[in-house]
Amino acid sequence: GLTSRLQNVFSKLRGKGKVSEEDVNEAMREVRLALLEADVNFKVVKDFIAKVKEKAVGKEVMDSFTPGMVIIDIVNKELTELMGGSQAKLAKSNKPPTVIMMVGLQGAGKTTTAGKLAKMLQKQNSRPLLVAGDIYRPAAIKQLQVLGEQIKVPVFSLGDQTSPVEIARQGLQHAKDNGNDYVIIDTAGRLHIDEELMEELKQIHEVVKPDEVLLVVDAMTGQDAVNVADHFNKQLELTGVVLTKLDGDTRGGAALSVKAVTGCPIKFAAIGEKIDALEPFHPDRMASRILGMGDMLSLIEKAQANIDEQKAKEMERKMRNAEFTFEDFLEQMEQVKKLGPLDQLMDMIPGMGKMKQTQDLKVDEKQMGRIEAIVRSMTTKEKQNPEIINHNRRKRIAAGSGTSLAEVNRLIKQFDEMRRMMKQLSSLMGPGGKNSKMM
Ligand code: GDP
Ligand code: MG
Repeated sequence: GLTSRLQNVFSKLRGKGKVSEEDVNEAMREVRLALLEADVNFKVVKDFIAKVKEKAVGKEVMDSFTPGMVIIDIVNKELTELMGGSQAKLAKSNKPPTVIMMVGLQGAGKTTTAGKLAKMLQKQNSRPLLVAGDIYRPAAIKQLQVLGEQIKVPVFSLGDQTSPVEIARQGLQHAKDNGNDYVIIDTAGRLHIDEELMEELKQIHEVVKPDEVLLVVDAMTGQDAVNVADHFNKQLELTGVVLTKLDGDTRGGAALSVKAVTGCPIKFAAIGEKIDALEPFHPDRMASRILGMGDMLSLIEKAQANIDEQKAKEMERKMRNAEFTFEDFLEQMEQVKKLGPLDQLMDMIPGMGKMKQTQDLKVDEKQMGRIEAIVRSMTTKEKQNPEIINHNRRKRIAAGSGTSLAEVNRLIKQFDEMRRMMKQLSSLMGPGGKNSKMM
């Protein structure tokens, strides 16, 4: 994947005390290939590489104490810029209700995302109304009604015999009459962009004058998603993009190209089929995730929302100071289990993404059980000071946990790697905030 390729490039650079212009060029050639392979738009890649090069061959970088790290930081910042820089927030009308129109091709995830968004707004103490504007796809209305019931958000529908434009008009009026502060209008998609669809969307647009026109695109479709975005944007003036199916095996191309190609920011990322699998999109966090630096902030936020805040803070401190032990590891596994799909969470922890990629150490629930058994077979002293775990101790741990010496060795090695990554991360972030120690 993109992350492992970039990590390879950077681990080469990081090893060097001095970086020559040739080293930078070589690294940039590899970054370029990695991005193209991840299905990032060709022109976007070209501009990106030019920008990074310009900054990376400067004298300060070459003469810096840790040139490799400085270059990674430059790439990180440019990736963040590429995706819009800072978080693009959902618009809020000062004359409620705020009207949100969901548009996109069939199967992109409009209806699902409409439900997720309603749930998110409801959690923020808003009173959203969902409007069933897809009268063409069989069962589309029912799908929205089921979602609405599940999250206890009202759904406005006039069946499938009234025109979508009229449904949208009356839906908006209904929201005004009932004090809903957000109206989320689900619309129909087609398999391909067609003029009839665009015409109808334009009419709805004219009638409800939305504050947000959110294009929902399937991230799995890579550059196609970007082309779709470009086309919709030319016809409808989008206000934001929602990238869906980021939980799947996407290559990252859509996330990295959409903003640069269309000028339209990504506002949300959908990471699963479940109703709460929607997150505000943070370019900086996505960049860190792509670079394999994990996504600690999202993880910590998630933890704070779902589990013991005190513990989460303590964990963050330990990670920053690289004081993380096997005891913390165990405790974190316990907490993590409460948070849901392991796969997604693992990607957020520095180093864990890499661990997951290791073929014979797939991080599924069963595998987690084996890892847990290994850690539980360590003595307290061993958990607190992993460096004392010598060959004999490893043999004992393997026997005690019913695993093999090879498995124990692997876990300890990966744990070491993880700690190293955390150290790097904490030096990147510094105690007072981002990058304070680096320059
Ligand atoms: P629409 O035609 O644009 O309204 O798309 P739907 O909302 O009906 O979604 C199409 C399919 O994609 C459904 O099976 C959804 O469960 C699925 N889906 C939507 N968002 C996501 C996501 O973020 N991840 C995954 N894995 N599936 C998703
Ligand atoms: Mg739909």
